[in-house]
Amino acid sequence: MAKCCICGRRIGGFGEDKYKISEEYIACYQCAPYFRKMKDAENSEQILKNENELNMKLGVNDVSQDVRDAIENEIQKIKDSKQDMYRKEQFQLQKKDEIRKKRKEFMVTTGYNFEGYKIVKYINLVHGEIVLGTGFYSELSASISDLLGVSSKTFEGKISQAKGVAQEQMILNAMTMDANAIIGIDFDITTFSNNMIGVSANGTAVVIEKIEK
Ligand SMILES: [Zn+2]
Repeated sequence: MAKCCICGRRIGGFGEDKYKISEEYIACYQCAPYFRKMKDAENSEQILKNENELNMKLGVNDVSQDVRDAIENEIQKIKDSKQDMYRKEQFQLQKKDEIRKKRKEFMVTTGYNFEGYKIVKYINLVHGEIVLGTGFYSELSASISDLLGVSSKTFEGKISQAKGVAQEQMILNAMTMDANAIIGIDFDITTFSNNMIGVSANGTAVVIEKIEK
C-alpha cells in the first residue's frame, strides 16, 4: 500500500484525496492541500505561506533528502506555472514605487507659483474630497459643552485630518493627469443636513520645471 512521503500515513481508501508529487512520491489527503493551495494561489504570499507550512511539516516528520528534492521540484513547477501572477505582482509593485516617488517630488501651494520653478503647463482644475460621517457632530457638541475647550481640539484635529486626506486624493488625481504640482489650493467645508460634513480640496494641476541658472 502506498504511503504519504511526507507524514508516512497509509494512502488506501478508494477516492481518498491525494497528490502525486513525482513518479515515486505521493502526498496523503492531509498533506495534499499544501500543493493544491499553491496551485490555486492568487498571489505569491499564499504560495509562500503554504511553502512555509509544508517545510515545517517536513521538518517535524524528518523526511529524506530524496523526498525533499522531489517536493522542491514540484513546487518549482507550480511556481513556473504561475509566471503571469508573478509578473503582474512585479508590475504593480513597480507602479506603487513610481507613484510613491512621484508623490515625494510633488509640490503644492496655496499661492500661484513656486520659487525657483516656472510653470510650463496648466492642465486642469483638480479636486479631492472626503465625507465625515454621523457622530461627528455629537462629538463636536460634547466638546463645545466642555468649558475648558480641551476637546475642541478633537474637532480641529478631525478637520485638519480630513483636509489632509482630501488633499492627498486631489494630488493622486493630479498625478494621473501627469501633473507634478498643484497651485491655488483651497479647501471647502460643507455641512449636510444628515449630520455629515464634507471637506473638499481644490486646485489647479500644473507642470513645473526648475529654472536653470
Ligand atoms: Zn501526509
